[in-house]
Amino acid sequence: MSPPSSSRVGKIPPSRSYNMARVRGDMDTLYERKLASSLWHRRIRGYRRRCKTHLGRPDFCFHREKVAVFLDGCFWHCCPLHFKLPATNVDFWRKTLADNRARDLRQTRQLRRGGWVVVRIWNHAVKTEAGMLRAVRRVATAVDARTRKLRRETRPHARRRVFTR
Ligand SMILES: [Zn+2]
Repeated sequence: MSPPSSSRVGKIPPSRSYNMARVRGDMDTLYERKLASSLWHRRIRGYRRRCKTHLGRPDFCFHREKVAVFLDGCFWHCCPLHFKLPATNVDFWRKTLADNRARDLRQTRQLRRGGWVVVRIWNHAVKTEAGMLRAVRRVATAVDARTRKLRRETRPHARRRVFTR
């Protein structure tokens, strides 16, 4: 996921750490593009990018199948392996990132409650070819399962229509 827009962050400290964070944000979008391209090559389509829903804004959103995919940047989403708090503006970052983390959890919970399958992928996980393949497989598995479920749900109705004719 990309870094939050300035309006969401509020007061932005004019500091070096913010610039560093922006660079990290650019790297996040780079891997988002790479994931999009891998999905495309695997013929996994029918999603929308960064689609606004009332339940948040998944990076890849399969509306029909109700599958939401988030690619979480290691910095903005506080990855347990790579996250490091910037040395300056510590209070600002601590609060901003804690808010992000809380929002992630809330979003996931709300989407699941709404019947969505939520796939959250760490940005670091798609930096290798093998990792990207695993991520694509996770998305494919979720979408396939949902497609089969949709088919099962629609079939009985189709039969009923035949009988009443
Ligand atoms: Zn990480």
